[in-house]
Amino acid sequence: MTQTPRPSHQAPGIHHKAVGDILVTALNDGMFDASFAFLAGVDIPTAEQMHRGAFRGIPPKVAVNSFVIRQADKIILIDSGCGTNFGAGLGILEANLATLGIKPSDVDTVLCTHLHPDHIGGLVDSAGKALFPKAELVVHATDHAFWGDDATLAGATSDMDKGFVALARSTIAAYANRTRLLTSGEAFPGISIVPEPGHTPGHSGWMIASGGESLLIWGDIVHMPGIQFRRPDAGMVFDVDGAQAIVTRKRVMDMVATDRLMVAGMHLDFPSFGYVQKAKEGYAFIPDIWTPSL
Ligand SMILES: [Zn+2]
Repeated sequence: MTQTPRPSHQAPGIHHKAVGDILVTALNDGMFDASFAFLAGVDIPTAEQMHRGAFRGIPPKVAVNSFVIRQADKIILIDSGCGTNFGAGLGILEANLATLGIKPSDVDTVLCTHLHPDHIGGLVDSAGKALFPKAELVVHATDHAFWGDDATLAGATSDMDKGFVALARSTIAAYANRTRLLTSGEAFPGISIVPEPGHTPGHSGWMIASGGESLLIWGDIVHMPGIQFRRPDAGMVFDVDGAQAIVTRKRVMDMVATDRLMVAGMHLDFPSFGYVQKAKEGYAFIPDIWTPSL
């Protein structure tokens, strides 16, 4: 008797969302086992208890997502996932792009939320060569300046920090002749940068607006959804300015809850589209429901 094939993986992590005339597609780059030791402001027993209470695994699983924006005839990527920097379970963005029929050479622009390796790792190969041969890089001027600053390089003492700085600098170099720096306003019609400093100095979200609909792709406002909605005062040890990151997280959550604005994020559970609601303790995330047509 032949056995019915039994899959070991989900279908490709691809999910579309129409925002007016703009098509936004979430692409999962993989998922990694994180550690509650990455948290700042919440002790490990409390974090474990919160995860058990929310039916979430221990250690915490953190998704890595990127987004493709199709606007008019442009193909725009927001962040590029991990590339080859975090092992085999991550870096599947390129395969997911191929499933959509998009080759790296088709990508016109890469908008960055910030220059951390799980966001820019897919932009260069191990030799530092640009993997998107014609794409323009758009990044907040403050993040670009911070990671390119020799003082940031000199201040990196741990191997992890040195690796972060090295990858940011090689990415800056690889795209040097096709980089656009922004601090406010639109990168394209309906696609605006939203400064959200703290996690990194120029960390930014991207607001997508078309036909009366809006979506804030908020980057790394949340890394651990099982903790930081209830406890927006919980940060990450990777935050460059932890106090500022908390102020920003609270401000952004309050804004999107008040405005009933749809959000998506690089570390929210795939596909990550949803809403934020004030809760008894902190906030709650309400996932957008799946619909078959856009
Ligand atoms: Zn990140």
